[in-house]
Amino acid sequence: MILLRSTETVFANEVEVLVVGAGACGMTAALAASEQGAEVLVLERDSKPSGSTSLSSGFIPASGTRWQKEKGIEDDPELFAKDIQQKAKGKADEALVRLTTEFAGPCLEWLSDQHGIPFEVLEGFLYPGHSRLRMHTVPEHTGSSLLQRLHQSVAKREIPVLCEATVSGLFVNNHQKVLGVRVLRSDGSTEDLGCRTLVLACNGYGGNAKLLKRFIPELEGMHYFGHNGNQGDAVLWGEALGAELRDMSAFQGHGSVGLEFEDYRNADQMGAIRSAHDLEKLSKITSLPKSNLERTFQDIEDFHLGKREDSFGRDFKEKPMLEPPYYAVQVSCSLFHTQGGLAVNSEARVMHKEGHPLPNLFAGGGAAQGVSGPAVWGYLSGNGLLTAITLGRLAGEHAGKQASQSKA
Ligand SMILES: Cc1cc2nc3c(=O)[nH]c(=O)nc-3n(C[C@H](O)[C@H](O)[C@H](O)COP(=O)(O)OP(=O)(O)OC[C@H]3O[C@@H](n4cnc5c(N)ncnc54)[C@H](O)[C@@H]3O)c2cc1C
Repeated sequence: MILLRSTETVFANEVEVLVVGAGACGMTAALAASEQGAEVLVLERDSKPSGSTSLSSGFIPASGTRWQKEKGIEDDPELFAKDIQQKAKGKADEALVRLTTEFAGPCLEWLSDQHGIPFEVLEGFLYPGHSRLRMHTVPEHTGSSLLQRLHQSVAKREIPVLCEATVSGLFVNNHQKVLGVRVLRSDGSTEDLGCRTLVLACNGYGGNAKLLKRFIPELEGMHYFGHNGNQGDAVLWGEALGAELRDMSAFQGHGSVGLEFEDYRNADQMGAIRSAHDLEKLSKITSLPKSNLERTFQDIEDFHLGKREDSFGRDFKEKPMLEPPYYAVQVSCSLFHTQGGLAVNSEARVMHKEGHPLPNLFAGGGAAQGVSGPAVWGYLSGNGLLTAITLGRLAGEHAGKQASQSKA
């Protein structure tokens, strides 16, 4: 069941703001909605909230923050926006890029000042494509801690998070207004629940093979490294309501290489990184033909000396020449998360394809369109949590305002 048409509101229970999904976006939305004086309920399909947020490194990019200033890092939203567009070849939604880059810093300071979540700037590694150190992280430097801290703040405000509660469909009227949701519980029973406004924070469609085939056929057979509960429900509901979908073929594919990444460190401990003192041995331990290795080494020397350009766009000029011992690791790409989704306006309201906002539907994070343009080359590190936090806050704030006004 995707949409259930209904003309009357006949729900035994109703809440003012319903949030679907208890990841970074849903938690931020819940905090913002409750600040508006609205009664909020979060519905989460898992027994213990994790989402892709917990699987992530938890690094959120923001510019002009007080944490950057404390470290003497000069940065501003304009430069941040320029970096995003440079990576996306100028094809990311300009209004959304401006909105999210201007709002990211204030959002993190709000989470810190109003909700007690401590942040710091990640040092020691400048993420490719970012011209300043601007990744912000909680002290533990993990996505699971970020989510845990968000949940603690939500609990402090006494906002209920109902787990093992999968939203399986929406009740809507003939004006595309959402009246409520159907919730599937773990024992197979269902409950119908009314709402005044609905926030979709249930991420993208990385876990839905059918949607991947439809929107990003090149991913067929690729391993999905994100949260499997992200089945594209927001896209399916939005589409059935006539919402506009944007940048549906965009995604982040990733091969984590580098000691900054925990999964790479784990791979290292398990012996996945091999070493050899010459090409003969390297060829043996990698089972790669020696002649191919020789050609690759020659290529790298040429790129280093500036004789030729690398067809992958990598710059070896400032890098040292390769010297033994040589290290080898098998890198395979996996899908981290999709970047397309529901078109939203500056209040994170879901937009109908005819250009007007839907009456009471909001979206953020992976459920909404991203700032990565239309294809895989457009993703700049951090674009995921950037829209989760900024659009989450906007969605919650405006859903909360609307719900509170409607009861006045
Ligand atoms: C390995 C990895 C590393 C990453 N590292 C970073 C990083 O460092 N920085 C960055 O910016 N981004 C990173 N990302 C991307 C980032 O994790 C996501 O962009 C972000 O977490 C999205 O947040 P969200 O709240 O939209 O979704 P999620 O955190 O996935 O939350 C969505 C929630 O909705 C629930 N849900 C789904 N459907 C339903 C339903 N029908 N009913 C009820 N509940 C439902 C899910 O169970 C889930 O808990 C990474 C991703 C991965 C996979």
